[in-house]
Amino acid sequence: MSDVLSLKGISKAYNPDKPNEVVVLSDANITIKAGEVVALVAPSGAGKSTLLHIAGLLDTPDSGQVAVSGQDQTGKSDRRRTRTRRQDVGFIYQFHHLLQEFTAAENVVLPQLANGVSKADAHERAQMLLGKIGLKDRMTHRPGELSGGEQQRVAFCRALANAPKLLLADEPTGNLDPATSDTVFDALMELVRETGLSALIATHNLDLAKRMDRIVRLEAGKLVDV
Ligand code: ADP
Repeated sequence: MSDVLSLKGISKAYNPDKPNEVVVLSDANITIKAGEVVALVAPSGAGKSTLLHIAGLLDTPDSGQVAVSGQDQTGKSDRRRTRTRRQDVGFIYQFHHLLQEFTAAENVVLPQLANGVSKADAHERAQMLLGKIGLKDRMTHRPGELSGGEQQRVAFCRALANAPKLLLADEPTGNLDPATSDTVFDALMELVRETGLSALIATHNLDLAKRMDRIVRLEAGKLVDV
């Protein structure tokens, strides 16, 4: 099967050639196949967010190749990269970043409308996703009326709204208490497995990491199999 994500020889430094240069990635490599769920573990400051942003086409490496859905992104215009990101990549952050003035359903509908989906189809998909993740009775709640775990579940559905091929998550349950984190993570994995998504999920939590297909560690700018 084809690779959904391929990073080859990725290097990235902040403030290059300056006294405060920080080399974050140095020849990092990974491929993720269709349906594969990979845990990314590393201490804080090791470069997880930088790597996820490069993989998700939000940032560019200094050198190396990024391919999403088999398409090499090297030298592609910002417009092309944005289109690929919108169609193929879903992001989840530690904090949900939901739009407070909109309901749970609307938060899942809006990214679809931005992608050209009709209102009716977008609502249908939002109801399907929120229903699957146990929020059937919370469709019209605003984020402020939801618990932390529920807010994060809505954020998962929003990330999956446009049926991406690749899910990138940065400590998706890091802001929740351990018991909630566990059940919310289960809900996420169920949704990921059901939709056949590929995922790269950064976590500090080794128990969660062990529930994924494999674990890679970010060490001195490189990705090593655990
Ligand atoms: P993590 O997500 O693993 O905590 P980050 O990718 O956020 O790590 O950051 C990796 C390193 O790069 C850190 O030492 C951080 O201070 C540095 N860094 C991140 N962003 C910038 C930036 N815009 N300018 C300079 N240094 C940065």
